[in-house]
Amino acid sequence: MAKVIDWLKQNRKLMFSLEITPPDRGKNMDDILSGIDPLMRFDPQFINVTYHQPHMVYDEKDGIITRRPRRKKPGTVGICSAIKNRFRVEPVPHLICGSFSRYETEDTLIDLHFLGIKNILALRGDPPPGQARFIPEKDGNQFACQLVEQIAQLNRGHYLDELEDPFPTSFCIGVAGYPEKHFESPNLDKDLLYLKSKVDAGAEYVITQMFYDFRLFKEFVEKARAIGIQAPIIPGLKPLVSRKQIQSIPSAFHVNIPCELVNIIEEARTREQAFAGGVRYMARLVEKLLEYGVPGIHVFTMGQGRAPQALLEAVFAAKG
Ligand code: FAD
Repeated sequence: MAKVIDWLKQNRKLMFSLEITPPDRGKNMDDILSGIDPLMRFDPQFINVTYHQPHMVYDEKDGIITRRPRRKKPGTVGICSAIKNRFRVEPVPHLICGSFSRYETEDTLIDLHFLGIKNILALRGDPPPGQARFIPEKDGNQFACQLVEQIAQLNRGHYLDELEDPFPTSFCIGVAGYPEKHFESPNLDKDLLYLKSKVDAGAEYVITQMFYDFRLFKEFVEKARAIGIQAPIIPGLKPLVSRKQIQSIPSAFHVNIPCELVNIIEEARTREQAFAGGVRYMARLVEKLLEYGVPGIHVFTMGQGRAPQALLEAVFAAKG
């Protein structure tokens, strides 16, 4: 089943997707793909591939400063194509507003359409490293809801220029949601209204930012439903299995780590004990989510196969 929404609607089997990140420039794609090889036996239906905005490099020569965009992690579209060929699994490229004019966005959508890509996760994108806030391109989309609207328009055959007999695309569009609110948002209620604007513009499902407290996810879903967001909401999960992650995850992703999980990691005598304790905690979280009736789970791998593999082993062993 090529589209995420069709899979979710068939409602027979839990959807399970993985998210991977392209390698740094100059590195081999096979390193990333062989990293997810061990996860393929869990039979993911979709593999998301992140997209990264370039950062700016400034050169000075003869008193003149020139600005050059440099992309550290190119290759999203190429990896999507490789995933289709190598694993016969549907890829879901992430498409961001940052660094694209609306015209360049349209060109990328045409490329993806020609490659037979059926799904897109539409995002605003993070500011590039070293830049405090997000700055859209001149003539670019500023918020994800505008990108969703542009993709939905293309699905109706409305290109930016008036064209004779234009061919409509047929993308299934997903968007991001934040159980603990997006870090720039004044509060969760306001953030949810912006999430609703993405769904109203044409997004068919939501994947959430990682979270570690089941209660927060449940409250988020209930609040979303209360304001009329009916789209399926898929929890995003990143295993937390080391001391280092107790600091790095909250600072990178603006999420809270409950005391119970912090204590498990801090009280572990060895790295292996911390790893096993973190995996057990995450597996219990997944169990609660499944009992609650989530339509799927989405696992962020971020280049690390071992923790996702251990989590999936625990989850699938428990499910039988
Ligand atoms: P938006 O929905 O546009 O929201 C951004 C901010 O603007 C929020 O604070 C929101 O409340 C506010 N807002 C929204 N609409 C309006 C409006 N109309 N008026 C005023 N304020 C508004 N980043 C990447 O760079 N590449 C990736 O591949 C990537 N993948 C991700 C995958 C998932 C599952 C998730 C959860 C996040 C991902 N991110 C990725 C991170 C994401 O791009 C950042 O969190 C980004 O800062 C916000 O993106 P968004 O699509 O949620 O933006």
